[in-house]
Formats: sequence, C-alpha cells, structure tokens
Amino acid sequence: MKKIGVLTSGGDAPGMNAAIRAVTRAGIAKGMEVVGIRRGYNGLINGDIIPLDIRSVSDIIQRGGTVLYTARCAEFRYEEGLQKAKQTCLENGIEGIVVVGGDGSFRGAADLSARGILCVGIPGTIDNDISMSEYTIGYDTAMNTAMQLVDKLRDTAHSHDRCSVVEVMGRNAGYIALNTGVACGATYIITKEEPFTMNDVYNKIINGLKNGKHHFIIVVAEGIGNSEQIAKDIERETGVESRATILGHVQRGGSPTVRDRVAASQMGYHAVELLSRNTGNRVVGLQGNQIVDYDIQEALNMHKEFDHELYRVASEINF
Ligand code: ADP
Repeated sequence: MKKIGVLTSGGDAPGMNAAIRAVTRAGIAKGMEVVGIRRGYNGLINGDIIPLDIRSVSDIIQRGGTVLYTARCAEFRYEEGLQKAKQTCLENGIEGIVVVGGDGSFRGAADLSARGILCVGIPGTIDNDISMSEYTIGYDTAMNTAMQLVDKLRDTAHSHDRCSVVEVMGRNAGYIALNTGVACGATYIITKEEPFTMNDVYNKIINGLKNGKHHFIIVVAEGIGNSEQIAKDIERETGVESRATILGHVQRGGSPTVRDRVAASQMGYHAVELLSRNTGNRVVGLQGNQIVDYDIQEALNMHKEFDHELYRVASEINF
C-alpha cells in the first residue's frame, strides 16, 4: 500500500491525537504517504484532505480532542455517500484508511471496505462501549477527570452534610460510572447493568445516617438520566439535602493519561501494520493487555460483560 488516510469520527476522545500521530509516523516509517481526512467521513465526501508528514503530528501527543476534527456524517450511511467517498479515495490514490471512532464509525468502515477501500478501525471513545476491546482510547482520561470532579463535589457535600448526585458520561454504558463510583467511594452507583430500586438507594443513605455518615455521593450513569429528579426524591425520602450535578462534556476534554497515550500508540501502529499487509475490514483492540484485531462484523456482534463482581465489591465496602 502506497498511500493511507486517517480520520476521527463520532464523539471526540482524549488520545485520538496520539493515535493520529502513531498512524502517521508508522505509515511514513513503512514508506507510505499519509493524509489526514478532516471531520470524519464528511472529509471523504467533500475532499477535505490534508497531507501529513512527520512534523505535522509534532506536539499533539499530549493534547485532548482531535486535530483532524470530528463529526457525524448522515450521508455516509447511504450508497450515494459511500460512492462519493470511494471516488475521493480513488482520485487521491488513498488505498487504506484508519478510522478512529466508535461502533457507528466501524459500520461505516465496514461499508467502505466492502467497496474496495480497506479500512481498519481503532476504538476511540470515552464510553468504553466497544465489545471487542477491553479498553478504548479516552476512557481512562475520562474516568480520571470524572474522579477528580467527584472529589471536588465531595468536599462541598462533606462541608454541608449533603448528598451529591453526580451524573457521569457513558452513553448507554455504565463503565465510567462503575469505576468512578469505586474510585470515589460512592454510596450507591446507579447503572442500567445492575438492577436497583430507589428504595435501595434511600435505605443505603438512611443506614449510613444511622452509622454516623453525614454526606453521600451517588453516581448515576448517563443512560439512566433524570439526576435532578433522583436528587429531589432522595431529599424527600431521607431528609438529606441533595444536589444534582451533570458533569457533561468536561469529561471529554483534557490531556490524555499515560494509558490512553500508550494504547493509542500501540493501536495506531498495529492498524498501519494491517494495512501494510493489504488487510482491511478489521478493528484493533486490547484484550488481556495484548493487541488483537477482529473482522469488523464479528467485532460488532461481540458482547462485553459488565464487571458485576466489582459492582458487588463496591456495594459491600461503601456504606
Ligand atoms: P461512534 O462512531 O462514536 O459510534 P456514531 O454512531 O455517530 O459515532 O457514528 C459516526 C459516523 O459513522 C456517522 O455519522 C456515520 O457517518 C457513520 N455511521 C454510523 N452508522 C453507520 C452505518 N450503519 N453505516 C454506515 N455508516 C455509519
């Protein structure tokens, strides 16, 4: 393969820049030309393509967000959009593409691979909701950011004898909520993966009060929603003054952690190795600290187990 492209698609995640850098440097080291495709699949449809050399990815490994910008692209879901994208690749001599994104982006990558432009996906999403990989780029940074913010909320909850209901991101998955909850000693972690009733939550708080506890942290996963209402209900049922905070997009930004930078570098390198062997329609991931790759369709059909044991531990030590 003589020329490859790299793009970031879907929600941004810290570490995407480290992946772009790794892909660019690995491609150049293998004698390939590398281009950046901007704003996800839109860049393929509009021809928004920039050359990348070893210096154009200097000084980005430590930066959050993505220098290639990211977007969602409705047109890419249809044959016409896919054909336009293919045409852009043919006109620009792009034979393979590394797509950094989530499940939706991988579906697009499979569609384009089926039309002759070989694509390799790298999981870049803070939500960790990619089944084939134990770990996605951005997840560790997002959890650390959430943990630091919950720590700050704990200071004020402690000072005012309050209950702080904190909604963390995760789209429909409770991975950030579980780990942040454990790391912050949350009294209760509400996720859709674990059955709960509001009575459980109230009882945990009431028992805490009886044991001399004065402040409480309740972590709520994004997919559950209605954190304001949860805080109101807790206050009404337990008598503990409660406040809701939705952390939101602050969890998406910031300088990536060691883990995100290392994972992005390893995955980016491996994706280019696959393309250099003319292998496409694959997704790269991490399993047991090993880099693995799967057929995209197979990857999309995989199922990820929630760590119920960790949840149980959290329930037993946080009261
Ligand atoms: P993520 O990649 O983070 O899951 P999205 O689901 O928004 O984010 O997908 C990102 C982009 O991938 C979409 O805007 C679209 O261009 C493309 N995409 C999503 N689903 C499909 C699909 N079923 N077929 C083709 N392309 C898709």
